Amino acid sequence: MTSVMWFRRDLRLADNPALLEAVAAADDDDVVPLFVLDPRLWKPAGEPRRRYLQASLQALSERIGGLQLRRGDPVHEVVAVARAANADSVHAAADFGPYGARRDAAVERALSQHGIDLVLTGSPYAVAPGRVRKSSGDPYQVFTAFARAWRELPRPAPVDGPGRVRWQLPLRSHEPYAVDDSPVSLPEAGELAALERWRAFLAARAADYDSARDRPDLDATSRMSAHLKWGEIHPRTMLAELIHRRDRGAHVYTTELAWRDFYADVLWHRPDSARDYLKPAHAQMPHDPPGEQFTAWQEGRTGYPIVDAGMRQLRDEGWMHNRVRMIVASFLVKDLHIEWQHGARHFLHLLVDGDLASNQHGWQWVAGCGTDAAPYFRVFNPVTQGRKFDPEGAYVRRYVPELREVAGAAVHQPWLLEGGAPPDYPGPIVDHLEERREALRRYDMIKASGEEFPSGTNPGRTTAPNAQQQQQRYRR
Ligand SMILES: Cc1cc2nc3c(=O)[nH]c(=O)nc-3n(C[C@H](O)[C@H](O)[C@H](O)COP(=O)(O)OP(=O)(O)OC[C@H]3O[C@@H](n4cnc5c(N)ncnc54)[C@H](O)[C@@H]3O)c2cc1C
Repeated sequence: MTSVMWFRRDLRLADNPALLEAVAAADDDDVVPLFVLDPRLWKPAGEPRRRYLQASLQALSERIGGLQLRRGDPVHEVVAVARAANADSVHAAADFGPYGARRDAAVERALSQHGIDLVLTGSPYAVAPGRVRKSSGDPYQVFTAFARAWRELPRPAPVDGPGRVRWQLPLRSHEPYAVDDSPVSLPEAGELAALERWRAFLAARAADYDSARDRPDLDATSRMSAHLKWGEIHPRTMLAELIHRRDRGAHVYTTELAWRDFYADVLWHRPDSARDYLKPAHAQMPHDPPGEQFTAWQEGRTGYPIVDAGMRQLRDEGWMHNRVRMIVASFLVKDLHIEWQHGARHFLHLLVDGDLASNQHGWQWVAGCGTDAAPYFRVFNPVTQGRKFDPEGAYVRRYVPELREVAGAAVHQPWLLEGGAPPDYPGPIVDHLEERREALRRYDMIKASGEEFPSGTNPGRTTAPNAQQQQQRYRR
């Protein structure tokens, strides 16, 4: 009755329903712990995510006492391992991404030819994509309504760990792919590290999360995104602890986990939105090809300090604060007029938490062609954003050494400094106000098509957002 536990984005033992199924199916017999390094996912990932995954696999392997590691196409590798182990079933959590769903269907077909079942139990989400629907059965288009319905669904409690498992340790494991010894400083990976970080956040920072989370100069967010990405902890485990808290921080944090589920849901309903515009009219808008300015953006040399600090944080740490992700994304799309897909690709390559649904829809949200009810003409001003969310300039000084000697908020406009900007720091590569006007001009070209606006929004207004938009903005 041997079974195979095929780990993918669920690199943990606790609160893992698929693992419990694998153990139950084995009925006191062996469970083979398997991970397949799939070149289709490995190749596009940058060094930070590769290194993090290797570390996470190492941590899982230490908890189990070994891990069957295979390199190659899962359709071939999973079948080979299951057959060699004489297994009756292979167990995993469902994958709702476009590629993952196709891959699982192919693996299921291949296994069935040998009389082996693929059993999918649970998902990486608190609520699996496709479950939150309007009474009409249609999916939600905007987050606020989705989140309201999401909160009302019954929430299953975390499940127990598997207890004693008869792990069948590697028969013929492959060597992991080599990873470069890149200088990116990564957080500790693994289930135990995830739990430790989560508990530390709950104890010290969760209560103030609602007021401090938008401040990149403070260590105010949970930094749980990489742990969630690889399923080193399940959001169900986190929600079970948040539900007992009465503070506003816990409420707002719960909303952030709903964003994660929302974007997975949108991608599941519209798999094309991983590459294409969610609002198709935006594909008609003229854009500039990525050239030297794109390179300056990637390298943190735009001359706008908060943008440069964010891009350098991404390069150095494989992570960027959420507020700054929005600022740099807006700058690329609306100041440099470059299509969001170029920026999304760069992010996905470098982010240690790089996640197709959250990333592509985070980008589309900022670009104004995604799920947001607030329209395209919201253009982030990098100076006012910097002054507001990094009021003392500490975040900029941390990542832009050329500006370390500039005190206070003046760091956000080095071109205004008496004596000019430090000579080794570039001047602004574009004039923000001019480019804002240019972005709106290009936008006017598609506005006339009328397809752009979901009903209830007013395409002509460029100033104060309505109450719904205000709320949306606040929630982000
Ligand atoms: C352009 C852009 C690209 C992004 N790309 C990614 C990505 O590839 N992977 C990723 O996990 N997040 C992405 N985000 C969302 C968000 O920036 C990160 O989840 C967050 O910064 C991670 O840090 P944290 O764990 O400290 O977040 P916290 O503020 O502590 O939030 C807790 C958790 O809630 C979830 N969450 C928070 N905000 C969002 C959001 N806007 N959308 C979806 N989930 C959210 C994450 O799982 C996060 O770990 C992106 C946002 C933008 C604007």
